[in-house]
Amino acid sequence: MVDLVDTVDEHAVVGHLGPDLLHEDFDAAEAVRRLTAEPDATVRSVLLDQRRVAGLGNLWVNELGFVRGLHPDRPVGDVDADALVATARRMLHHSATVPEAYQVTTGLLRRGERHWVVGRAGRRCLRCGTTVAARDDVEVVGSPARRLWWCPRCQPPPSPSGRRPADP
Ligand SMILES: [Zn+2]
Repeated sequence: MVDLVDTVDEHAVVGHLGPDLLHEDFDAAEAVRRLTAEPDATVRSVLLDQRRVAGLGNLWVNELGFVRGLHPDRPVGDVDADALVATARRMLHHSATVPEAYQVTTGLLRRGERHWVVGRAGRRCLRCGTTVAARDDVEVVGSPARRLWWCPRCQPPPSPSGRRPADP
């Protein structure tokens, strides 16, 4: 979608967006606050919600989940959100600044090995050899179903209670 607006009216278009991961004045604390405002929401759904943090599309959310070892159904209250935001920022910054990096997340340019999990359903995980899983996402409200991918071993599912047991 392309909209032309006067500068003074820009806030009406982008004011609802969360902190922009690629902005030099990125407010990491505010991004973490928005991402964890609903601790029971899944890490995947909050990362795709541009009102919480801006800049991550479906590809990046899937690849970020792999890199951080997070199953897409993990509740965000159960993860290290500071580290998650820092990794997201590093990945996007690398993509935007390193020539030809574009959306290659593995550093490998061979066809079929450019991403850790995206587009690799049924193939072996590049890290551990386990078969990469995939399903269609019906959870993200307001968005068409999107594919999600994960390695069942590198990204173990959350415990049935949703939260890790508290440390003794
Ligand atoms: Zn794996």
